[in-house]
Amino acid sequence: MLSPPDNWLPQVPLEPLHLDWLAHAGIELAILRLDQIDPLISGNKWFKLIEHLRNADRVGAEGIISLGGAHSNHLHALAAAGKRLGFSTVGLLRGHPQETPTVKDLQAFGMQLHWLGYAGYRARHEAGFWQPWQTRYPTLHPVPEGGGGWPGALGCMQFRAAVCAQLQGLGWSDYDGWWLACGTGTTLAGLVLAEAGDHPVYGALAVPGDHGVAQQVETIVQQAAIADPVYELFDASRGGFAKVDPLLLEFIEKTEQASGIPLEPLYTGKALLALKQQVEAGKFARGTRLIFVHTGGLQGRRGFSPQI
Ligand SMILES: *Cc1c(COP(=O)(O)O)cnc(C)c1O
Repeated sequence: MLSPPDNWLPQVPLEPLHLDWLAHAGIELAILRLDQIDPLISGNKWFKLIEHLRNADRVGAEGIISLGGAHSNHLHALAAAGKRLGFSTVGLLRGHPQETPTVKDLQAFGMQLHWLGYAGYRARHEAGFWQPWQTRYPTLHPVPEGGGGWPGALGCMQFRAAVCAQLQGLGWSDYDGWWLACGTGTTLAGLVLAEAGDHPVYGALAVPGDHGVAQQVETIVQQAAIADPVYELFDASRGGFAKVDPLLLEFIEKTEQASGIPLEPLYTGKALLALKQQVEAGKFARGTRLIFVHTGGLQGRRGFSPQI
């Protein structure tokens, strides 16, 4: 069995987040701390994996093979889960061998690594890409980059129940929407499925010019035949994925000092800064209550050199 027993699944804390710019606009924010679920397995990537692990069990696989970059939060969560739950993992990496903190962890967790170069990695969407790997590792179940797609979204549906179970503790009777960072949009799609139109889901895009996020969300939403999906996407990329600028870094530092919440510059920092900009532009009425999803990713900021 690769998938964990149900009672193993982590509890996700929901906490109030007080910041000047929120108070000023009369907006209440609660933060769903996916970064706090486990010392090693952190963030949305763990939830995106759960259904893939169940699928692997259904086909009798003994482990997982997947791909990512040298700072990949997905490979990190996968390798940590493999070590914790006792299944084997193989990672196909973009580029040439590098010793990042993430890569060192992958090795320490027992993940077997293969470096594909850049051209080799670009071929990952081509028909036949998996064939040689499946011949080489016939007992491993392949999982797409980032743990995306329909199974990835299914694993993120449970955030709604996690929030509903903790609303009373905040003194809230309800909430008015979700705000979260998007890369592929899989996590957002899971929330759109769980809400089925009850509350809107706002996605802050960490990638420029949409990058197929809307299509990814539409594909998943259509598969679930949700009649009335409610979501909206905002550009939060600040000029490109992994592009960092002084204003962003200053915002992250100030937010950490004021709230104690650690953020990283690729997803969560950009998402919260984009929310601030929307709040200041008057997007939300006074009294609005939002859930901000801390999607984790803090492991990836070690040794990350910002491209200012
Ligand atoms: C991967 C990632 C995201 C994006 O998730 P998607 O499901 O691809 O949209 C957001 N935040 C962090 C920290 C991530 O690692």
